[in-house]
Amino acid sequence: MNFIKKYLHPLIILIVFEAVAVTLWLSKGNLFYLFNFSYIGLSISLGIFLFIKKYKHARRVVQLLVGLYMLVYLGFICRENMQLEGFWYYLFTGVFEAATIHYAVAKIFGPLLFGRGWCGYACWTAMVLDFLPYKVPGAPRKKLGWVRYVMFAASLIFVSALFLAKVGNLERIMFWAFVFGNVAYYAVGILLAFLFKDNRAFCKYICPITVFLKPMSYFSLLRVKCKKDRCVECGKCRRVCPMDVDVTDNSRKRKNGTECILCMECVKNCPKNAL
Ligand code: SF4
Ligand code: SF4
Ligand code: SF4
Repeated sequence: MNFIKKYLHPLIILIVFEAVAVTLWLSKGNLFYLFNFSYIGLSISLGIFLFIKKYKHARRVVQLLVGLYMLVYLGFICRENMQLEGFWYYLFTGVFEAATIHYAVAKIFGPLLFGRGWCGYACWTAMVLDFLPYKVPGAPRKKLGWVRYVMFAASLIFVSALFLAKVGNLERIMFWAFVFGNVAYYAVGILLAFLFKDNRAFCKYICPITVFLKPMSYFSLLRVKCKKDRCVECGKCRRVCPMDVDVTDNSRKRKNGTECILCMECVKNCPKNAL
């Protein structure tokens, strides 16, 4: 009983992903979905399990397992555009496959359950950015969040224009858009990290996917909460947070609440086990 209680979170994640894997496998008649979502669910559960076991690099392990799989296997080998442009592309072609399913699970409906767990444990852009030296932001947050909406609109306009102009060979174009899009994301992400002394500057200001992630994660079931009776208001949790979340405030409207990537740095660093 104690074992189940201790490992409840990885078990829930595993069950949810297996349910998605089996449902999609049977409804679509495609074994790929069983493999894909089982692999991702197992990787995330392993990460949470290692975290409970207090393994220091637990999150990084799962980030590399999932991020590399998505980028190298799905992106480069299977030639699926898993970026936002791929989502629009499959949506416009009316095919509920690959990128559309990925977005529905990880970035649109999934965040109602696990918030921005995608950003903390799976994203292949952040997988690289998290290797940079500014794990804790070295400067206050800038008022540049509006850039993400411009990026979001640009992505939609780009794919819409391809369809409206009836451009041929769209599959090939989408593959190369994925390759160049990723190169651009890494370049801008690394540049901003050094410029703002903040590994996650790209996530805070540029990433268009946050237009989906932020409002959905507002309602997230899984969130870090503060046990007020234990908290001594030392402020350590806020100092180590890569996303500037006011984590001692339990309200859903807490400052930068929809920025939480569930990295658990605050939990690990709280001297009173109040989180
Ligand atoms: S905000 Fe964007 S780039 Fe950052 S981790 Fe989330 S999805 Fe990845
Ligand atoms: S680190 Fe812990 S004790 Fe300190 S302010 Fe945060 S929750 Fe409270
Ligand atoms: S440090 Fe805590 S509040 Fe900040 S992003 Fe990580 S889990 Fe969320």
